[in-house]
Amino acid sequence: MKALVTGGAGFIGSHLCDYLVTHGHSVVALDDLSTGHVSNIAHLTDDPAFSMVQGSILDADLVRELVAECDSVFHLAAAVGVHTIVDQPLRSLRTNLHGTENVIEAAAAQRARFLIASTSEVYGKNDSDGLTENDDRILGSPLKSRWSYAAAKGLDELVAHIYATESGLPCVITRFFNIVGPRQTGRYGMVIPRFVQQALSGEPITVYGEGTQRRCFGSVFDVVPAMVQLLTAPTATSTAVNLGGREEVSIKGLADRVLELTGSSSEIRHIPYQEAYGDGYEDMQRRMPDLSLASELIGYAPRRALDDIIT
Ligand code: NAD
Repeated sequence: MKALVTGGAGFIGSHLCDYLVTHGHSVVALDDLSTGHVSNIAHLTDDPAFSMVQGSILDADLVRELVAECDSVFHLAAAVGVHTIVDQPLRSLRTNLHGTENVIEAAAAQRARFLIASTSEVYGKNDSDGLTENDDRILGSPLKSRWSYAAAKGLDELVAHIYATESGLPCVITRFFNIVGPRQTGRYGMVIPRFVQQALSGEPITVYGEGTQRRCFGSVFDVVPAMVQLLTAPTATSTAVNLGGREEVSIKGLADRVLELTGSSSEIRHIPYQEAYGDGYEDMQRRMPDLSLASELIGYAPRRALDDIIT
C-alpha cells in the first residue's frame, strides 16, 4: 500500500503512520500542525518509507498532487476539540467540509481506496444502549447537532457515501468513540490524559457536572489495525462502522479509577459545565457503541481494558 494519511502528525494519525510503516507500507503524512506535532512522527522521519508534508487539506492542488502518488487515503485531518469548534465554528466548518471535499475528490479521481474518520457525534444526543450504524436519526437534523463539528462530520459522511455510490469510490467511514492513547494532548475533551496529569501532579481532578455521564473509551492500539483492515476488506466498502471500546464507565467512576491506579491523593472537584465550556453547552449522558458490525466485517474485538488504557 502507498498511503496518504491526512492529519498524520496528530494523535490517531501518527499511530496509524507507525502501524503502516511497521507493516511494510509507504506513507506520506499531510498535516498543517494546527493540533498535530512534529514530535509525534519524529521517530519516523529517517525511514525511507515515510515522508511528511506540512500543508493544508484546504490546498486542493497540493492534495491532488499527493493523492496522485498513492493507492490508499486515510483522511483524518480535521478541526477537532470542543474549544476549537466552539471558539471558531465557521473556520472549523470550512476545514471539515471543504478540506474533506478536496481529499475525496482527489481520491475519486485517482480511484484510491478511501477511509474517512468520523465520530460518534453524528448520533447526536442519543443515549440508547449501544449506538448502531443503522440508526435513522443520523443526519436527520443537522441543525440540531450539538455543534458545527458534528454537522460537518455528518455531511462529510454523506459526501463520501455519494462518491461511493455515484463514482464507485471504494470508501469506508469509521465512527470513533472516545479513542485514547499516548500522544493525546491538548485542550479538548480528553478526559483521561487530563485526569492522569492532574492525579500525578497532585492537583484536584476536575469533573464537569455530577460525573454521572457514561462513556466507553477505546484504545488507539485496537482501533488503528482495524482501520487498515477495514480499508482493505471488500465487504466494508461504502459502510459506516463504529470503532471504540466495550467497557462503560461513569466520569466519576473514571476519576476514582485514575486515583486508585496512580495512588494519588488528589481530591475530586466538580465544576459546572458552563465554567468549563461556556453557556449553552450540554453533555450527553451516555455514549456507547454497538460494535457488532465491526466484529462481523473484520472480527473486531477490542483487547485493551480500561485499566490498560489509563496506564
Ligand atoms: P488530532 O487533533 O490529534 O488530529 C487531527 C490532525 O489534523 C492534527 O494533526 C491537525 O494538525 C491536523 N489538521 C487539522 N486541520 C488540518 C488541515 N487543514 N490540513 C492538514 N491537517 C490538518 O485529533 P485525533 O484525535 O487524532 O483525530 C483524528 C481524526 O479522528 C479527526 O478527524 C477526528 O475528528 C476523528 N475523531 C477522533 C476521536 C477521538 O476520540 N480521538 C473521536 C471521534 C473522531
